[in-house]
Amino acid sequence: MTNSIEFLNSVNQMFDKSAKLLSLRKDLATKIKLANSTYTVNFGVKLRNKFHTFTGFRCVHSEHNEPVKGGIRYSLGASQNEVEALAALMSYKCSLMDLPFGGSKGALIIDPNAWKQEELERITRRFTYELAKRDLIHPSQNVPGPDMGTDENVMAWIADEYRRLNPTEIDSLACVTGKPISKGGVHGRTEATGRGVYYAINELLSYPKDCKKIKLSPHIEDQKIIIQGFGNVGYYAAKFLSEDGAKIITIIEKDGSVVNETGIDIESLKKHFDKKRTFVGFDGFTTTRKRFLSKECDILIPAAVENVINKKNAKNIKAKLIVEAANGPVTSEANSILQKKGISVLPDFYANSGGVIVSYFEWVKNLSKMRYGLMQEREEEKRQSSLVSALELMTDKSFPNDLKDKVIKGSTEIDLVRSGLEEKMSEGYSNIHEKFHSNKKIKDFRTAGMVIAIKKIADAYSYLGI
Ligand code: GLU
Repeated sequence: MTNSIEFLNSVNQMFDKSAKLLSLRKDLATKIKLANSTYTVNFGVKLRNKFHTFTGFRCVHSEHNEPVKGGIRYSLGASQNEVEALAALMSYKCSLMDLPFGGSKGALIIDPNAWKQEELERITRRFTYELAKRDLIHPSQNVPGPDMGTDENVMAWIADEYRRLNPTEIDSLACVTGKPISKGGVHGRTEATGRGVYYAINELLSYPKDCKKIKLSPHIEDQKIIIQGFGNVGYYAAKFLSEDGAKIITIIEKDGSVVNETGIDIESLKKHFDKKRTFVGFDGFTTTRKRFLSKECDILIPAAVENVINKKNAKNIKAKLIVEAANGPVTSEANSILQKKGISVLPDFYANSGGVIVSYFEWVKNLSKMRYGLMQEREEEKRQSSLVSALELMTDKSFPNDLKDKVIKGSTEIDLVRSGLEEKMSEGYSNIHEKFHSNKKIKDFRTAGMVIAIKKIADAYSYLGI
C-alpha cells in the first residue's frame, strides 16, 4: 500500500508529541515506540491445480502485558508498515482502556472475495499453522481477533486449527477471539465496535463542557451524521445511532453514496447492500463520494481505512466532530490542520476500542469455561420477583405489566456484555476528559488519550526494570 509508510509515520509522530509532553526518557520512548518484532511468512497452498504463494505478517508491538492482542486483516493492501502501525495502535488502545494485553496485529495479502469459502479455509488453516508454530497464536502469548476482511468464520478456522495442533491445551479456545457463539464466541462481539462508537458519542454528549467547546447540541436527536464505510463497524454505528434518534444524512461507500437529509433508513439500506453488494439502486443514491467528506454535518465518522482524512482534504472538512471508527483514518498532518480549524477528533484508540473490549470478555469467558450470566440470571429473577410481589402487597396495586418483565428479567450474556462495554467506554472517556481539561499543554483528545496510554506502558516497563 503506497500510503503505509505515511500511516506508520503518522502514528509515530502522534506518539512523539505525547512522549515529549510526558518528558519521557528518550531511550524508553524509543523502546515503546518501535515494534518488538514483525514476522513475515511466505507460504504456498495448492489450489485450482497450482501453488499459490501468500505473504502474511504478525507484528508484536509491545509485550509489557501478555498475551498481546490484535486482529488479523485480509487485504491486498496489507504491508509490514501497515501492520506495524496497527499493532502500535493496539498497544495504545489496550493501555488506555485498561485491558490486560500488549499490542499486536496480523495481516495476509489477499482479496478474500476472490476465493471460495473452502479455499479461504485452507489458506487460513495454513496461515494459522505458520503463526502457531512460532507461538504467534497462543492463549497466553498472542491472541488474534477479527479485522478488515476477516469474520467469525475465519476466527473459527483459526481456533479449530490451533486445537488440532495442541489437542491437550485446555485453554485452546482462548487462542483467538471473534469466534461464532457455537465455537466459543461471546454474544455481542460482532456489533461491539459499532456499539462502542455509539457509546463514545453518547459519553461525549453527556459532558456539557465538551459539547460547548465543540458547539454540539447535547441531544443525540439533534446530530446530523455522515459515515464513511458501511462494513461491520459503519453499519452497527449507524444502526445504534439512528435507533437512538440521530440522523444519518449520508453514507459513503466504494461505488457511491446514499443521501437523505431526514435520515437514512439503515435497516433497508443494509438489506439492499447485503443482497446487491452495492448502494446502486437505493433511494438517494449518487456516485459522488469524496466530496461528501467535506459536507456540512455535526459528526463525521470515518469507518473504513487509514489515511482517509489527510493534508489534501483536511482544510475542507466542515464537521464539528470527527469520530475515528476505523484505525488511523486521520493522518497526523490532517490532525494539526483540523486542530487549527477548531474541529475536534475522538481518536481511534478510544473510539473503536469496543471490538477489543468485547474480545477481552470473550477471552475471559474461554478461560473460565463458563458463559456470562450463568450463576446470577435465576437468582436475580427470584429476588426481583419477590420485590415486585412485596411492592404489590404493600401498595395493594398490581405492578404495571409492561414494566414487570423488564424488572424481573435476570441478566443474560448479551446484557452483561453490553453493560461491561458501556462501562468501559464511559471510564475511557472520563479519563480522556479529565486529562484534556487538566493540562493546558494538551490541545486535543488524541494527545490526552495518548499521554494516558504511554504513561501506563512506560510505568510497566519501569517496573519490569527494562
Ligand atoms: N481489529 C480490532 C481492532 O482494531 C479488534 C481486534 C481484537 O479483537 O483483537 O481493535
